[in-house]
Amino acid sequence: ERITTDMATLTKEIDKFAKDRKLEIEMLKVREEYRKEFLGNVSHELKTPLFTVQGYILTLLDGAIKDKNVREKYLNNANKGVDRLIYIVRDLDMITKLEIGDLSLNIETFDIVELIKSVFELFEMKASKKHITLTFDVDYKEPIYVIADKERIQQVLTNLIVNSIKYGRQQGTTEVSIENLIKNKIIIRVTDNGEGIEEKHIPRLFERFYRVDKSGSRKEGGSGLGLAIVKHIIEAHDEKIYIESEFEVGSEFSFTLEKSE
Ligand code: ADP
Repeated sequence: ERITTDMATLTKEIDKFAKDRKLEIEMLKVREEYRKEFLGNVSHELKTPLFTVQGYILTLLDGAIKDKNVREKYLNNANKGVDRLIYIVRDLDMITKLEIGDLSLNIETFDIVELIKSVFELFEMKASKKHITLTFDVDYKEPIYVIADKERIQQVLTNLIVNSIKYGRQQGTTEVSIENLIKNKIIIRVTDNGEGIEEKHIPRLFERFYRVDKSGSRKEGGSGLGLAIVKHIIEAHDEKIYIESEFEVGSEFSFTLEKSE
């Protein structure tokens, strides 16, 4: 009698062990696939600007170097390609740190109104090239203090504002607004009236390297990591991020922050 019971327990335990191992192996397989896909994406993203830079250098070596105007133009273009590479590597570095949880937050109290204004100032030139107006809704004469990692929130605002300009229409608008949500929460919205996003793409938008326009002829450069970084940063703060978009009408990205009393 005793032995049978023990045998039954043992069998159950062996079953459980086998099941756990199987799950573990499945997990490892998924992780391995993920890693392969990541590496594949990284090399793909680096290839285009590298070949572009190489193209300009080879043309210069091939004789173009003798003409002063062509020389300057090609060197400038090559430099732009290098800039893009630096930008991609910086984003990759950031996403890797965020994903392995290696990026601790430096929480402080700061004025979000001032931060938004300073980000606007940085991108005024970029916006004016497309005749896009940047507006900051409500006359925030008063500071609004929030508790968060200022540098990371600046990155979130930068990525969202840059996107709204990149995917905005000529003569369009980018508007940032702040609203009280509940007692100690505010919601910040970045709204544009640009190209918008088709509904089918929305669930995947925050994945790293996901882009609506995958063609090589895409006019707007970028790493495809901007929104993945935004999502990580907001979630690391235990806050929420939302997106609302209508194709060919515009998009609104919003996120919550904790207000200081
Ligand atoms: P990218 O470097 O391609 O801009 P992101 O992660 O920042 O990468 O954005 C992912 C994709 O989401 C973009 O390629 C674009 O298709 C879409 N997207 C992001 N922001 C907007 C926006 N404001 N309006 C329309 N599409 C957007």
